[in-house]
Amino acid sequence: MKILVINTGSSSIKYELFDMDGQQRLAGGLVEKIGEKSGGLTHQKVLGNGEIRRHTEHGPVPDHGQGLKRVVELLSHSEHGVITNKDEIAAVGHRIVHGGETLTAPTVIDDQVIATIRELEPLAPLHNPGHLKGIEVARAVFPRAVHVAVFDTAFHQTIPPHAFMYALPVDLYKTHKVRRYGFHGTSHAYVAEQAARYLERRPEETNLITIHLGNGGSMAAVRGGKCVDTSMGMTPLAGLVMGTRCGDIDPAIVFYLGKRLGLGMDALDNLLNKESGLKGLCGANDMRELLAKRDSGDANACLALEIYAYRIKKYIGAYLAVLGRLDGIVFTAGIGENCAPVRSMACADLEGLGIAVDEEKNKAPGRGIRQISPDNTPVKVLVIPTNEELRIAQETQRVVETL
Ligand code: AMP
Repeated sequence: MKILVINTGSSSIKYELFDMDGQQRLAGGLVEKIGEKSGGLTHQKVLGNGEIRRHTEHGPVPDHGQGLKRVVELLSHSEHGVITNKDEIAAVGHRIVHGGETLTAPTVIDDQVIATIRELEPLAPLHNPGHLKGIEVARAVFPRAVHVAVFDTAFHQTIPPHAFMYALPVDLYKTHKVRRYGFHGTSHAYVAEQAARYLERRPEETNLITIHLGNGGSMAAVRGGKCVDTSMGMTPLAGLVMGTRCGDIDPAIVFYLGKRLGLGMDALDNLLNKESGLKGLCGANDMRELLAKRDSGDANACLALEIYAYRIKKYIGAYLAVLGRLDGIVFTAGIGENCAPVRSMACADLEGLGIAVDEEKNKAPGRGIRQISPDNTPVKVLVIPTNEELRIAQETQRVVETL
């Protein structure tokens, strides 16, 4: 079965085509700057020997429909393609950021599901409108395929009320849906499943802390395969220090800055979401850039890294208490998979809690799943490459097979 996974933003379409029989990635790419003057497309075809053949196009892409049509042409192209006919694609898995409290599992997309995703737009104003566009054009381009929505928030819907409620007037939850939702759920779910397999344990008997550190960052406490808490909140602004987002702060800072600097709501939103985090602390939102600054003796970069790792460590402590017993900690995504100093600092001095990192293993280069804790510590610290697209394809396949 061939499954196309698409992640549509307001001006982009990310896509991956999988052959589910061998769980193989066949092709993938990105259409960018849709509707702008200087659009473009990058396409990758996976060759038989695993090598990648790249193809790039420059030029305006007028709308999402035209963008997806070009993707289909490339997927069935004599040189760049991997299929002969678009009807080979049995299903399309759509990544949807927000499913709210009603869309809690991968779901076949029908008019009711579309209406619910639309109703949830106020909770995900930057994402859900783009996803809806993607659904509309993909249904037109692939009328025979099954379209399945896979939600970023779904994995966190098992979080109990005492962990998802805020201490605000209860009516704000009942009427306005103000609560913790959590994000990156597909990634947390994927690495949690991989970790249990790697540790040769049944997921139902495995307690994990999963740490997704990319441009955005979040952590999850996973008990027996089910999420019981996560660091992001009603929006992706809460929790860890991120590239440009502040993570947890005293909410009263918002009123203080509003009054003292005369900042309006939009300016405050921009400040906390786009100008804070690592960027605000040291001028570099990219971890590689931050490390280069630190290596050249930049004191702000040194402190930013300490603040970043300290926040992760605090959440490890909190989630250890939430879980009561811990089998493994998983680092994933760009920083989690590649940045040894962050892993080492976040787990430093936790031997008393059964957590340690073996520095040689931590620094050794590696691509697949690897353990970076010493063999004799009770909690296994793992690095697991995430693969959100493959997870979406797997979830889509599961839905298709039940039809
Ligand atoms: P993602 O959003 O998962 O693509 O992650 C992006 C983040 O990963 C950026 O902050 C990158 O600087 C960081 N990153 C990627 N490769 C490395 C690396 N080799 N060392 C440190 N950070 C890295």
